[in-house]
Amino acid sequence: MTMIWAHSGDSHFIEPPDLWGEILPAALAERMPRSEKISPTEEIVHVDGKSFHRDLPDIKRSTKRGSDGLTQVEKQQRARGIRDMSARLADLDEEGIWGEVIYPSLGLWENLIEDRELVKAAAAAQNEWRISKIQGAAPDRLISVATVPLHRVEDSVAEVHHAAELGFKVIGIPTGVPAGTKDWNYDDWEPLWAACEEAGMVLGVHTAPENGDVIPFRGPGGAVLNYTEATYAGQRIATKLVTSGVLDRHPNLRLLVSEAGASWVPFVGDRMNEAYRQHGSFVRPTLSRLPKEILFNQVFASFQHDETAIPTLTAMGYSNVLWGSDYPHTEGTFGHTQKTLHELFDDADPAVRERITTGTFEELFPHVKVPAGS
Ligand code: MN
Repeated sequence: MTMIWAHSGDSHFIEPPDLWGEILPAALAERMPRSEKISPTEEIVHVDGKSFHRDLPDIKRSTKRGSDGLTQVEKQQRARGIRDMSARLADLDEEGIWGEVIYPSLGLWENLIEDRELVKAAAAAQNEWRISKIQGAAPDRLISVATVPLHRVEDSVAEVHHAAELGFKVIGIPTGVPAGTKDWNYDDWEPLWAACEEAGMVLGVHTAPENGDVIPFRGPGGAVLNYTEATYAGQRIATKLVTSGVLDRHPNLRLLVSEAGASWVPFVGDRMNEAYRQHGSFVRPTLSRLPKEILFNQVFASFQHDETAIPTLTAMGYSNVLWGSDYPHTEGTFGHTQKTLHELFDDADPAVRERITTGTFEELFPHVKVPAGS
């Protein structure tokens, strides 16, 4: 089987458990979120003097084997590079993955920490650590996503500038805004979009429910309901940035929506165009292009296994489709990446295969290229 090389628009690392102690002064570090496991299925999260209880999925108790013959625990243990970057590169070489957009696992603490100064300090220190330890491990392959503080937009803008100086290419934003701030479609965020466009930053959104609750459903069907639900917030933020005119006002700003699949894009585009036309008398702001055109040009969408991803490009005219491994997560392709890529692309036009595996990614990040002869 020949190796199909691909870049991943959706990968992850897990921060070391003592990260805050390593990168922040002790007086700040002790106020940052910290998890205390009180049983295999429960944790207490301590944040800046407050504590709350959270249920955890009990993956250790699950002995059921997945389609690759592995349990959840075996699968996680196999991904050696979740923290260790040189082990990660070995995993990538084996899997046939060259470049990666790497999202953090820590996040959403703006919703927990009320102190604006603490959030600012933590974002700046975390970005410096990521550039040195993640992207710095292989700057020609690994693209670390920067975090920006979101309590005040001027803090977000300052950290975009800091991130640009450090060498970041992607500013990560959550699907939902922090408590007490206006939603993404309001003009309050305009300075952030302008700063990202000006700095040439891609906006990276990893799909997840707006409130951070990844297990909103219980009971029959829960596992599939929850994973399906997780795609919608990625679609919603793309829709907000199109309809509110953000992407129209910033034609060089591009939004990467990771792990929400790809075939939703033509559907949502049709729906927006229908509303824009049929509800025209209510529509504000007026856009200089139809919503679907803005969506097709400036929104990029990553998928792992979807059998509809190729026809999305070939039959529905949406070309900003890119593949993603979701390394090291369960929904991803780790351990069977080549099998998945061959199933997807063996019968595809080589130009389509090239676009989805490498071309779309390289349009966002032209400095990352699979070496000739690989
Ligand atoms: Mn992912």
